[in-house]
Amino acid sequence: MIQPAADSPTPPMKISHVPDARGRFGAFGGTYVPETLVAALQQLSELYMKIQEDKAFWDRLNELNRSFVGRPTPLYLAKGLTRRARRMAEGKEAGAAIWLKREDLAHTGAHKINNTLGQALMAKKMGKRRIIAETGAGQHGVASATAAAQLGLECDVYMGSEDIRRQRLNVIRMKMLGARVIAVDSGSRTLKDATNEAMRDWMGSVEHTHYIIGSVVGPHPFPMIVRDFQSVIGRETKAQALRHFGRMPESIVACVGGGSNAAGMFYPFVDEQGVELVGVEAGGRSSQSGQHAAPLSHGRPGVLHGSLSYVLQDENGQTADVHSCSAGLDYPGVGPEHSYWKDAGRVVYTACTDDEALEAFLWCARDEGIIPALESSHAVAEAVRRAAAMPRDANLIVNLSGRGDKDVEEAARLLGDRVDAHQSR
Ligand SMILES: *Cc1c(COP(=O)(O)O)cnc(C)c1O
Repeated sequence: MIQPAADSPTPPMKISHVPDARGRFGAFGGTYVPETLVAALQQLSELYMKIQEDKAFWDRLNELNRSFVGRPTPLYLAKGLTRRARRMAEGKEAGAAIWLKREDLAHTGAHKINNTLGQALMAKKMGKRRIIAETGAGQHGVASATAAAQLGLECDVYMGSEDIRRQRLNVIRMKMLGARVIAVDSGSRTLKDATNEAMRDWMGSVEHTHYIIGSVVGPHPFPMIVRDFQSVIGRETKAQALRHFGRMPESIVACVGGGSNAAGMFYPFVDEQGVELVGVEAGGRSSQSGQHAAPLSHGRPGVLHGSLSYVLQDENGQTADVHSCSAGLDYPGVGPEHSYWKDAGRVVYTACTDDEALEAFLWCARDEGIIPALESSHAVAEAVRRAAAMPRDANLIVNLSGRGDKDVEEAARLLGDRVDAHQSR
């Protein structure tokens, strides 16, 4: 429950009241782009303001979410993971109930579709016939290709060649859906480089092309638009929490790559002061530079891909190399609103290592019969750890951002003998 500050003369500005007209989330965000893109971003901002009042637009999106995506996704009581947390609490009468918000059940297997459908509908409103996207794990590429197929748009997807190797099946999926996959061989050949190439394309194609950015990153108004389309997760969760246990949860945990599944889950809760919000970054192999992808934990403010936010960088401001076992978290930047929430003390950010995530991947598979995405496994690892230290009558919700089918080959390679149940028990 929120306690209104009874004696404060003017109500404090709500933490949800961002960004401002310049696209600022406190000190973060903004529009650091070449001149060629300013007009396109302005057009996007204006259209977005206009569709706020456009009932037909939201009716169409809600209908697609229902009949095509399968929303609302369930809020599911994870009895096996709850038992595991209670065992870890070692008889101390602790161990919160763990609930999973099942974004793994959304069409295409992750939350990404919530954003791509919304933006593809906006592209049509602007009269653009082609969409482009960048992709890391391939999930955003598949979700973009899916939205394009559904709405009859042309689709080109930029993807680092290292990610193409790691996520072969998603590459095939995109092609089957009618998209062209463009391999990016620059830099570390991962998400950051694919994003650079997509932005370059857009500079020369804005007249007929809309760039669907895959997370709450990039120049204004993208972080706001993606957050709003993803907020369907948090709005549903709020209603479901009231239905299932009659109050707000004590804690919500989500993994943070660019930060879209976390922002979509957290945003409807940021003004609910009793709800602890926890973002989990990729701790990788260690906290040494180049061995992780945790800008909120180890980065400094800087400009990457059009906005100011925490970024992993060297002394000269060059973007650092990153590592994570999960392609979707392998990004040196993070959405500006997360930087704002971090500095405002509203969201706690922590990190889980590759090994912790891989262990939690098996917990979720064996305790629940749900193979989670490696990205989501980071949130599961942190959730079990936290639940074990919380009272038994508390409720903790994990955003299970995606399913793990795309990861089974990579996880098996990393787990080795541990995949075999008889070896690990
Ligand atoms: C892309 C992806 C992520 C990371 O992206 P965010 O923008 O941080 O949500 C997390 N989980 C899954 C399943 C993904 O596909």
